[in-house]
Amino acid sequence: MAYPQSSFEDELAGSVVLLTGGASGIGRALGQALLRRGSHVVTLDRDGAAPETQAVEGTSGRSLHVVGDVTDPEANQRAVDLAVAEFGRLDAFVGNAGVHDGGATVRDLSPGQMRDLARRILDVNVVGYLVGACAAADAVERADGTMVFTLSDASFVVSGNGAGVAYAASKHAGLGVVRSLAAQLAPRVRVNAVAPGGVPTGLSSLAPGAEAEKAVYGDVESVVEQIRSINPLRTVLSAEDLVPHYLYLLTSQSRGLTGHVLRPDGGLSVA
Ligand code: NAD
Repeated sequence: MAYPQSSFEDELAGSVVLLTGGASGIGRALGQALLRRGSHVVTLDRDGAAPETQAVEGTSGRSLHVVGDVTDPEANQRAVDLAVAEFGRLDAFVGNAGVHDGGATVRDLSPGQMRDLARRILDVNVVGYLVGACAAADAVERADGTMVFTLSDASFVVSGNGAGVAYAASKHAGLGVVRSLAAQLAPRVRVNAVAPGGVPTGLSSLAPGAEAEKAVYGDVESVVEQIRSINPLRTVLSAEDLVPHYLYLLTSQSRGLTGHVLRPDGGLSVA
């Protein structure tokens, strides 16, 4: 994002953001918040529902949607090209689309099942972030912009949070993605992350085919109770509660930060 001396809100108005996983949960809440502030938002999601769900009345921001898989280089390139063609530039890339592993442990699955599950999880949560960053890097650099990725408490905490080994591995790897990109894309592009604790969304959509692991992860009510019980603040944040963290990282308010991770996790990191 260019850094005019302006207020937080003014700076977002007219900015152009490419957001993956914008059709539901955290991405949807962020997309709507950006549109309300006058940003133009291009979403990339395998789910086609984003444009309708993101229409926000009375905003000057426009939303466009690309249906595609974040692991597909062509889909990412299409989304970048669409942003540049329609709005003239790309100020920010938000890598957010992710899938959960249902909390599967090495004892729950056969080696073959683990291979298949781990490949699906790592493909979306790590390869998807890298492919997206690669597609967006030149355009975001031309705009002196920012990248923000969604990591997780599972990037740091490996038990009690419902994450299985494949998901935790993918979110730990995400930390490497963020820190490496921050080093590689400096000085013109800042790269940071938000690592939420548990947020009752879609709920961290299980990878296709991972229905068997759903039993391990549990129903929504028990997940909410689990989230509340493991963090010191005894809090359960909504997707909307996370939005200010992204907006902060997307604007010059955070201009001293790169390679940094904000952790809205109710204090889980000190539990
Ligand atoms: P969600 O399931 O509500 O939303 C994820 C979105 O990503 C969906 O719209 C889905 O269609 C899309 N998506 C998934 N795989 C895709 C693919 N291969 N290609 C294109 N789109 C794809 O989940 P959410 O909770 O909003 O998750 C968003 C991010 O937040 C993920 O990276 C997740 O790991 C992370 N996260 C979630 C929680 C939580 O508790 N909900 C906690 C920490 C981190």
